[in-house]
Amino acid sequence: MHSAPRSEQPPTATHCPYCAFQCGMRLAGPREQAVITGNDLFPVNQGALCIKGWTAAATLAHPDRLLTPLARNARGVLVPATWDEALDRTARALREAQARYGRDAAGVFGGGALTNEQAYLLGKFARLALGTSNIDYNGRFCMSSAAAAGLRAFGIDRGLPFPLGDIPHAEVILLAGGNPAETMPPIMQYFAAQRANGGQLIVVDPRRTSTAQEAALHLRLIPGSDAALANGLLHILVRDGLIDQEYIRARTEGFERVRAEVATYWPERVERITGVPEAHLVRAAHLLGTARTAMVLTARGAEQHAQGVNNALAYINLALALGLVGKPASGYGCLTGQGNGQGGREHGQKADQLPGYRRIDDPAARRHVAAVWGIPEDQLPGPGSSAYELLDGLGQEGGVRALLVMASNVVVSAPHAQHVEERLRALDFLAVADFFLSETAQLADVVLPVAQWAEEGGTMTNLEGRVILRQRAVAPPPGVRTDLEVLCALAERLGKGQFFAFADERQVFEELRRASAGGVADYAGITYERIAAQQGVFWPCPAEDHPGTPRLFAEGFPTPSGRARFHPVRHQPPAEEPDASYPLYLTTGRVLAQYQSGTQTRRVDRLRELAPEPLAEVHPATARRYGLREGQTVTLRTRRGAAAFTVKLTAGIREDTVFVPFHWGGVLAANRLTNPALDPTSRMPEFKVCAVRIERTEDGGPRTE
Ligand code: SF4
Repeated sequence: MHSAPRSEQPPTATHCPYCAFQCGMRLAGPREQAVITGNDLFPVNQGALCIKGWTAAATLAHPDRLLTPLARNARGVLVPATWDEALDRTARALREAQARYGRDAAGVFGGGALTNEQAYLLGKFARLALGTSNIDYNGRFCMSSAAAAGLRAFGIDRGLPFPLGDIPHAEVILLAGGNPAETMPPIMQYFAAQRANGGQLIVVDPRRTSTAQEAALHLRLIPGSDAALANGLLHILVRDGLIDQEYIRARTEGFERVRAEVATYWPERVERITGVPEAHLVRAAHLLGTARTAMVLTARGAEQHAQGVNNALAYINLALALGLVGKPASGYGCLTGQGNGQGGREHGQKADQLPGYRRIDDPAARRHVAAVWGIPEDQLPGPGSSAYELLDGLGQEGGVRALLVMASNVVVSAPHAQHVEERLRALDFLAVADFFLSETAQLADVVLPVAQWAEEGGTMTNLEGRVILRQRAVAPPPGVRTDLEVLCALAERLGKGQFFAFADERQVFEELRRASAGGVADYAGITYERIAAQQGVFWPCPAEDHPGTPRLFAEGFPTPSGRARFHPVRHQPPAEEPDASYPLYLTTGRVLAQYQSGTQTRRVDRLRELAPEPLAEVHPATARRYGLREGQTVTLRTRRGAAAFTVKLTAGIREDTVFVPFHWGGVLAANRLTNPALDPTSRMPEFKVCAVRIERTEDGGPRTE
């Protein structure tokens, strides 16, 4: 994969299809022999790729590729159909559901892999072509807690409010609930540079991950105890006079209530709640409190909880009390996960949102977007159901009866996955647009084969808020259409074609710029030409002569007072704690060689060789208690269901915790186990902690997929 391309065509500069690091890469050659090289001119990854990126071309000409629409026949079998048949049937089913049950009976479910143009048009399709409030996306399962916390504390949600290039200059970094050494390895060059500069890394994680192994200090907390840990660190900082009083007075509000709250989080108590020794807590607090520059970063391990917003707010309190936010090489940020997890949450595929990160219940926002779309404001629906609630209500009274899914494999990625599968089966109609027959597509009445990452152009917004251009490198195979073509064709059939007369993604982006103008995520000044010339433009960028905004908060915060806001946070236990029946904690996450629901990566030979099956990480002492050995198949069971895993013994995990990756479906699906308890604000499910028991396979349970 690394040799120079032999194609006569010059390689096309594009970006990786997977995570939010959005590595720059070059793709050369025809689809069947496409060759990927790292793009060393793109400043973010500087030519580095991980194994997922190096092997991404394998999906383009994969034999599993869907090349014709499929429609379920009278015998219940998916058979090839023409595009007209598939689109007509989809439009008819959406219309019929609405005629019978009302407008909200049609629903749309999107994904964090969609380009900004696709996410924007999906939102417009739902609100304008269908007139439904029911649209949400799988990013709700990814970024929503940090997003909600950022909005509450800073008045804006941009994952990193500073460029990655600031990381090497931070003296101390506390990273809570992230394992980028496996999930986005090229980012580690920034942490390595930080270490080479004499910097220190503190990792908060129940596991001694690859990232934790590189840290100066590892706080191995009990899953679900992040808020107590952050409060405990702040308690020590206050006690030892290490907070930035001047910053708190000049740039923030609400600290006194936080000070009162953290007063009760004395170290002995926090050690009891979190399992982290007091000496480690004091050392972490002192490292942070004595550094001239420092960062507090969170990722899904801290955020995917029924207390996810509170957890993120507690870490933000820490950053604010230290006076970090808006200062050079300092601040709070979250590491976005999905490829376009950032842009995908800005332009209207969330249930409560219009383009530009506008609120759908804000009259001024509604007026602006309705004017751009050329419709009366009262035609815009209001807020709809969040992702899990939308899925939970499928086929039920008051719920969605006909659903279009784009770029999402919810049967694998949603919590309580078997229940979600049952709800999908209860629909009157399901259409899925995908390029492989994913577990979700297998349930569909109509499957629409769409183009992949390298086959269509568009913009993505990486974890820094840098808007980048993903250029089309090869043409889609015959029989395949782009998501934009599918949406425009469906809108035409729904009688709204005049609002969807887009020839290409550039025209969609031009409208997106106008729709986002004046919003929080303002893209008005960003053009394809500027992105190409500047290797990306940071939003907000309100005018073409505006330089873009790599660093936020240097002058103030976009809150009514211009100050950042503290929020007192009280630790609350997870929605489900271990007991006699389910005596261990279960936590979930990703592994290096697989990505999200695995629809793509499980089909890549090299990645399957590296990670062929899900391994349950168990501490050797726990294994002894249960009579388990390395390589043995076990069933993990929770109150939601059971799934099969192979045991991997590791002293790196807590004795009271089992870790499983979530990239597999069927009886290997970790999300059969996870708890759909939702955060009250972000509606984030509690993926990261629930109570589990281990059953040896001879005790019964599933064995094979
Ligand atoms: Fe880069 Fe992420 Fe792709 Fe790996 S998966 S190559 S880190 S963008």
